[in-house]
Amino acid sequence: MNRLWNALFGSALAGAMLAACAVGASAADRTIFLTFDDGPLPGTKNVLSVLSQENVPAAMFMVGLHVETIPNGQDLLAEAKSMSLVTVGNHSYNHANNRYRRFYANTKAVVADMLHANQVLGLTPIVHARLPGRDVFRLPTVSREDLSINVAQWEREWLDYELVAEAGFYLYGWDFEWVHSDDGKPVQSVDRLVSEIDHLFQYGRFAQPGKMILLMHDEMFQDQFDGQGKLQSLIQKLKQRGYAFGDIRSYAPSNP
Ligand SMILES: [Zn+2]
Repeated sequence: MNRLWNALFGSALAGAMLAACAVGASAADRTIFLTFDDGPLPGTKNVLSVLSQENVPAAMFMVGLHVETIPNGQDLLAEAKSMSLVTVGNHSYNHANNRYRRFYANTKAVVADMLHANQVLGLTPIVHARLPGRDVFRLPTVSREDLSINVAQWEREWLDYELVAEAGFYLYGWDFEWVHSDDGKPVQSVDRLVSEIDHLFQYGRFAQPGKMILLMHDEMFQDQFDGQGKLQSLIQKLKQRGYAFGDIRSYAPSNP
C-alpha cells in the first residue's frame, strides 16, 4: 500500500496525507465529554474560567439547593448559563441529602425533586440531567444501569429512573471519574489521569463507543488545590494527544 501510494503521490505528500487521515480518524473516534457535578460550589468559578480559556465544551450538573445557599450561587449559575460552551444540567434539588437508598424509595418524591430543581435552575425540557449518586443512562438511544448497586436495590429503583426520564429528562451516567478525597482534593495526578484515559480508550468499554464521559466535581478545582492549573493542564495534555472534546447535547445520535 505504502509503495503504491508513494509511487502515485511521492513520499512526502503521501506521508502528510496519511498523517492527516490518522489524526482525523483518531479525533473522531476519541471524544471526551467533560462533566462537572454538584455546583455551584467553591471551584465552579475556576472551572468556567478554564473552559472559556481553552474553548472546550462541558456539562455542569448543578444542585438546586447549592444555587440558593452558597455565596454567589445565583451569579455562578447565570454565568454558566450565559456560556454557549456550557450545558447546565439538573443534578437534583438537594442531592438526596446524600442518603440515596432513602431518596430512591419514594418514586413520586424523586420526580418532584428533579422538577423542583428545574425551577430553581431555570431549565425547561428536554433537560440534560444526572441523578444524584447513581451512574444511570436513560437517553432515547442509550440505556445503562448502575453496576455499583445490587439487583435487589435496582429493582427498588428502576421505576424512578424511567419516570424521571418520562418527565422530560435525558439522564447521563459516566464512564470514568477523576476521583477526589473527602475534602474535595483530586486524587490522581494529571499525568496519572491522562495515562488512565489513554489506557481506557485502548481497552475500555464506554456507554457509547469512542466516547468517554469524564466525571469530575466542581469542588476539586478550588484555589487551595491549584484547581485552575490542574484542570487547564489536563485539557491541554488531552488536546496534545489528539482527543476531541464533545458537547453533551450531541452525545447520543438522536439528542436534539
Ligand atoms: Zn453529585
